[in-house]
Formats: sequence, structure tokens, C-alpha cells
Amino acid sequence: MKVYILKANYNNYHVLAPVGSGTLELYRRFNGQRMETPPEHIEVEVAEPGQGLPGGDFPGLASHIPVFSSKSMHVLGQLLGSVGETIPLQCKNCDDTYIALNVTRLIDALDERRSTVKRYTSSGRIMRILQYAFLKEAVSGETLFKIPETVLQEVYATEAVVEKVAQSSLQGFVFTLIWTNEAAVILCPYCMGVITEETKICPTCGLDTRRDAALEMTLDELRGMKRKPCPYCGTRIHVWADPCPYCKKGKQRQGLQEGVVIV
Ligand SMILES: [Zn+2]
Ligand SMILES: [Zn+2]
Repeated sequence: MKVYILKANYNNYHVLAPVGSGTLELYRRFNGQRMETPPEHIEVEVAEPGQGLPGGDFPGLASHIPVFSSKSMHVLGQLLGSVGETIPLQCKNCDDTYIALNVTRLIDALDERRSTVKRYTSSGRIMRILQYAFLKEAVSGETLFKIPETVLQEVYATEAVVEKVAQSSLQGFVFTLIWTNEAAVILCPYCMGVITEETKICPTCGLDTRRDAALEMTLDELRGMKRKPCPYCGTRIHVWADPCPYCKKGKQRQGLQEGVVIV
């Protein structure tokens, strides 16, 4: 069992921003609860620095609001079913059709005793989760979900979503492994993306992982690995990663252009 944080590959695909004022109020409405009067649509535009980049199937908006292209919605629609409500986006300066998902699947899945958290001194409320531990029974059978502690911060995904995205050559998804109940994590010997014992072709970089010895480490060791900014896209990557899992560029190896990033 594995749980990932789902993020957009924001240095390599479009990042969207709502048009006009009231962005924070709008973002706060995606709070894990069904909206009483959801907006008919949200007007957005592609943000400045990434305008020349491809749109992808999972452009960035806010970390707690996943945005899907019509292609990714088509692929994932059945799997995601009832995890939230969809709100169409109208893009001012791009032709793509996107929808935002208000994830309302809210689960008390955090194992607080085993997690490491930072709390507000006054109220004792959780400010940030530094290291996650989940209750296995609570997350089994789930796909995309939120937890009450981080409704305005993160969306979590399980293997079911990761596998579906990896098989469908959807572009722009980043899954960061934050919890597993398995003893070890297996990594691609090239891009350092997360793979399994059965992996032949790395879903992140597209290289044949059987040509080299895969790395095996604990999740703590993986999280503690040194990082550096990728010289091509600027995303922080593991110092040994080549090609870069995010932009697939590298000095020694030319990776295939696959969209998903599993790190
Ligand atoms: Zn790889
Ligand atoms: Zn890169």
C-alpha cells in the first residue's frame, strides 16, 4: 500500500491562475465539503512564465485543487467517480478545456501517533505534517482523497490512480511518495523514480530498468537524499537522478517523453 501527494509538474507544463480578484476566497471554497452554490465556471488564464510550455493533462492551479484536461478526465472519470464535484474552467488565453475537482472525499486517515507534525503553540492544532503515517484500513480501496488536517493544502492519491495515469501516457502529473507500509522502496537506477520489483520500463523516464541494478532503500532514506535543482527545468531532483524525472532531460541519457512523474 502506498500513498502519494498529487501535484502538477509546474516547471514543465501550464500553470493556470484565476482571472480577477477574489482568488483566495475562491481557493478556500475547495475545503473538502460540497459547495452549496458552486460557480458555473471559473475563468482562468495561463500564468506568465510558462506560457510557451505545453498545456498537459494536469495543469497547475492550487496544490489542493486538481485540474484535469478532457483527456485525463476521460481516462480517470470512472476511477474517480464520486470523490468530488467538478467545476469547468474557461481559459482566456488557451484553447484547452479543463475542469477543476473539488475533492470532497475526506477521510480521517492520518495516524497521528506515528506521524511527525508541527502544531500551533496556542491551539495545538496541526500546522504542517512533516512525516506522514496513514491508517492502512482507512486508505485501502481509496483513490483520491483529502484528510481534515490539510484540506487547503494537499490531495492524496493511492496506487490505483498512479497506475492508471502511468498506463495512459497522460502528461503533467507528479506523484510524490509519502507513505508506504512496505519495508523498502525500489527506485529506477536512472531517474530515481519510484518503481516496483515487477517494473521493466520505468513509468517516469521510460528507460529499461533491467539494464542496471535498481536501488532499494527505506522511505526515510529516500526522503533524506540530497537534492539539487535540475539544470534544465529547475525542479529540485535527487543528486543522482539522470535523466531528470520532471523534464526527462539528462547529460548522459536521453529519456523518452513520458508524462508521469513518480518520485
Ligand atoms: Zn526512471
Ligand atoms: Zn528537469
